Amino acid sequence: MQISQDSIVLIDYRLTDDAGNEIDSSADHGPLAYLHGHSNIVPGLEQALEGRGVGDEFKVSIEPAMGYGENNPSLTQTLPSSMFGGVDQIAVGMQFHAQTDHGVEVVTVTALEGDEVTIDGNHPLAGKTLHFEVTVREVRPATAEELDHGHAHGEHGHHH
Ligand code: ZN
Repeated sequence: MQISQDSIVLIDYRLTDDAGNEIDSSADHGPLAYLHGHSNIVPGLEQALEGRGVGDEFKVSIEPAMGYGENNPSLTQTLPSSMFGGVDQIAVGMQFHAQTDHGVEVVTVTALEGDEVTIDGNHPLAGKTLHFEVTVREVRPATAEELDHGHAHGEHGHHH
């Protein structure tokens, strides 16, 4: 069976940056199961998987526009540390859920200077070219329930 709209797909993958540093790997947390054609994964990877079958191995490099988007400087803000009153110690790399104009978003602390805290609402992989090595492990049709939920169920899928 080939990967097409509404397939449930199980992949092993390794994701690296331009310098070859590993960002994420299914070796760390098991394969990924997703529902094809429902934007469960970044568009560039979904496109590269279209029409593949079990056992296929491939490499693909994905530009930011087809990955996690371009880095948007307007999502970076500098705030007084007093706004983080409930936090014992603020450190670079900490992530918070913040109420923004676009709803609740995850922001990351990217700099600390005096009592000023710089936060960035971009996805940590925004603006980065993604280099994937992928192996297709399993392809099957989605169940009615999976289609209804918009994600894969099962051992490596979504748990309720
Ligand atoms: Zn579900």
